Amino acid sequence: MDTKTFKKSDSIVQQPNKLEDCAKAKGDSGKSKSFSGYRGQRVRNLYDPLATKPFKISRSKLELFLRCSRCFYLDRRLGVGQPPGYPFSLNNAVDALLKKEFDIYREEQKPHPLCIENGIEAIPFKHNDMDRWRDSLHAGVQYIVPNTNLMFYGGLDDIWVDSKTNELLVVDYKATSKASEVTLDADWQIGYKRQAEIYQWLLRKNGFEVSDTAYFVYCNGKRDLERFDKQLQFDVSVLPYQGNDSWIEEAVIQVYQCLQSDIIPSATDACDYCQFFIGVKKHLYKKYSQI
Ligand code: SF4
Repeated sequence: MDTKTFKKSDSIVQQPNKLEDCAKAKGDSGKSKSFSGYRGQRVRNLYDPLATKPFKISRSKLELFLRCSRCFYLDRRLGVGQPPGYPFSLNNAVDALLKKEFDIYREEQKPHPLCIENGIEAIPFKHNDMDRWRDSLHAGVQYIVPNTNLMFYGGLDDIWVDSKTNELLVVDYKATSKASEVTLDADWQIGYKRQAEIYQWLLRKNGFEVSDTAYFVYCNGKRDLERFDKQLQFDVSVLPYQGNDSWIEEAVIQVYQCLQSDIIPSATDACDYCQFFIGVKKHLYKKYSQI
């Protein structure tokens, strides 16, 4: 297009008239939803301080609490959760195939070749509840905290049994694709470590002897091959991690106190969502003074 003849009305960018235009999907009324299915305001599954029925807190919501108690409160108490991310379909495919593969050795009660290669004396744990424990949407490993109306739960990827001590070993599968070796050293991987510790804690609360050692079966997709050929190839590392679940009892008490309170907690400093919200609010206030 000749920029000299370009008129304002030719713009392909829709101009908002007022703040409400940002909420065309009427998320605030809960009557309709965005293209991804996200509703800004949820009206169900909210914590009621007076309820006696246990309210379920997933492992990922506990992680959210640790990262920002305000966001946790907005979500669980007031029904406004962060928009969901896009599904990691390829990672989920790796998880599903690993589960099938380890199930073969679980059935045979033999060590998986990855354990043999890595000198880990363990076999997959065989238990009637295994599928339930792995179902993070509907069950998971559950624990109701005494004297509260809270149930914590988490769906784990796998459990092995240490052949020498008979202790359970929490196992989590991870998939990525990077040029360098996979490690557990990055700051952001604190979430992975807490994940393993929460599973260790949940299993202990269910009466099992659980080792402090957890394992991450870390699959790293190769990028340096000549062709794709309709398949992804992976290097697989089995990384041990020494967990310490001693922080969880205190965190559970804090979660309970947070949910029981009528005061919205402070926000964390470093969060992309809040920076975005502050930026939007600033411009809309300035332009329309209607927010
Ligand atoms: S800083 Fe704001 S958006 Fe970010 S996690 Fe906390 S409440 Fe949520």
